[in-house]
Parts: sequence; structure tokens; C-alpha cells
Amino acid sequence: MPELPEVEVTRRRIGPLLVGRRICQVRTTRDSYFFLTRPARLRARLTGRRIAALARHGKYLVAELDEGSRLVVHLGMTGQLFSSAATSPRLLSASRRSSISPEAQRDFEADAHTHLQLKFDDGGPGVYFRDVRKFGKVLLLERGESHPRLARLGIDALAATGEALFAATRGRKASIKALLLNQALITGVGNIYADEALFRAGVRPARRAGRVTRRECARIAAAVREVLERSIETGGSSIRDYVAPDGSDGSYQDERRVYARAGEPCLDCGSSIRRITVAQRGTHYCPTCQR
Ligand SMILES: [Zn+2]
Repeated sequence: MPELPEVEVTRRRIGPLLVGRRICQVRTTRDSYFFLTRPARLRARLTGRRIAALARHGKYLVAELDEGSRLVVHLGMTGQLFSSAATSPRLLSASRRSSISPEAQRDFEADAHTHLQLKFDDGGPGVYFRDVRKFGKVLLLERGESHPRLARLGIDALAATGEALFAATRGRKASIKALLLNQALITGVGNIYADEALFRAGVRPARRAGRVTRRECARIAAAVREVLERSIETGGSSIRDYVAPDGSDGSYQDERRVYARAGEPCLDCGSSIRRITVAQRGTHYCPTCQR
């Protein structure tokens, strides 16, 4: 699933393709749970609008439109937001990929999974939102309108501080990992990044959150920002279906120190990395480096 770094990478790469351009045509698939705003209304309201900015709130991308409304996009599990001129063969189905030459794999053609297509009046490449498993979401908010999905998000993980984390964890019986995954508290820390940050901070994932010290909270907050920023620099993780909007693959997974390394030696001390379940999620840690 795309996590905060992948969404931020998407924002930075797709932003220049959206900002300042005027939408002249909108195509959608037919109405479904994918559309929190009915497709007919999306087509009517987006056509003719200029995109003023592209922001991110947690894992939501928010395109601010010239008359104050906002187009909100969530990539879900397999959502891909990319230029219609993207050339990645990974965007094609395996059967099509095997039947056409590499030269023919250029310029992605919208298919049944391409739920939103934006075309622009400058005649340049369009922007497509494609989602094979359809856990993504599209929503249009009118000027001043809010939505519970956005309103209930906690502080953005890239802005998390040790003091905020310390305050949020006092008196909490849940594990520190469960609190890091709690989007109402801190938004944007996914499973991989929680494990990696806790390793770097030297704190065991199952530790009761209320017993994590102020100094440890400072280390965890710094480690969360560090792993997220490092992942953004390297283009985001490339686990499963995620593909960067320009068609390139991310490479963060090569820097994992504990996640999905159960039984392998810790890169710092050589102990065997353990896998347990915390907050219903597969969780990885070093029994020696983490306390
Ligand atoms: Zn270790």
C-alpha cells in the first residue's frame, strides 16, 4: 500500500503536471464506491477549473482549484496517479506485456481501471488515476467544506516532534507501535516505517506506550522523520503494486534493516531479527538493539 513517502513522492512528481493547468475534459468510469462524489458531478465541477496547488494531508492528495473547491484523492492499496505519457510496462497487464514489443509499450492507454482522466486545455499530457483493486477514493469538497476523513487526521508524521509524541503517549496502555499506527494521533506512519523507526530509536515495538520515556519519544520522532525523508529521497517503497507516477520504481525496500528480515542477522549486532504480531500487524525487531 502506498504510504506517506510514496504519496509525497507522487505529489512532488505529479504536482508540476497539474499546477497552473486548466482542465478541459474529465472522463470517469461509472459510479461506484470509488467515487465519494458522484462521477457526473465531478465531470461537471472539474471541467474548466484551473489547479492552483497540490497539497498533501497524511496520505491524501488535495488539489486546490481556482474557485476554492478541492479535489481530494486517496491512492488506497493499488492506486496510481500518473501522466498519460507514462511508459512503465508495469502499468500494463502481464498478458499484454508479453504480447507487445518494448517499443510499443509507450504512452499508456486508459483502460477499465482508469477511473479518472483529466485532460488539459494546453493540449499536453493528461493525468490518469488508475486503481485495479479500487480501494482508492475521489472526493470533491466545495469551498470551506470539510470531510470527516480529513478532519480526523492527527499531526503529519513529517512534522512529528518528540514532545508531541510524549504528550500523546502518556497514560496509554497500547503498545508504542499501535500508537504510531494510529492515524488519529500521527498520520502517515505505515507498518514498514513504524518497524524501521523503532529499530533506529532502539525501542521495542510491543513496549507499553505510556512507559516510553521523553528521551525515547524524541528519538522515535526523529527516527520517524528520518526514515520517511530517506524514503522520499529514494523515491518511496516499491512493495507490490506501487509504481511512481513517472513509471519508475521506488527503491526504499533495499534499505530495510528489520522489516521482512525475520531470521536474518541484525546489520548492527548480528542477532537474529524476530517477527511477532503487534497491533494485528507483522512486526520486526532486534532483541539486542531494541529495549
Ligand atoms: Zn541488533
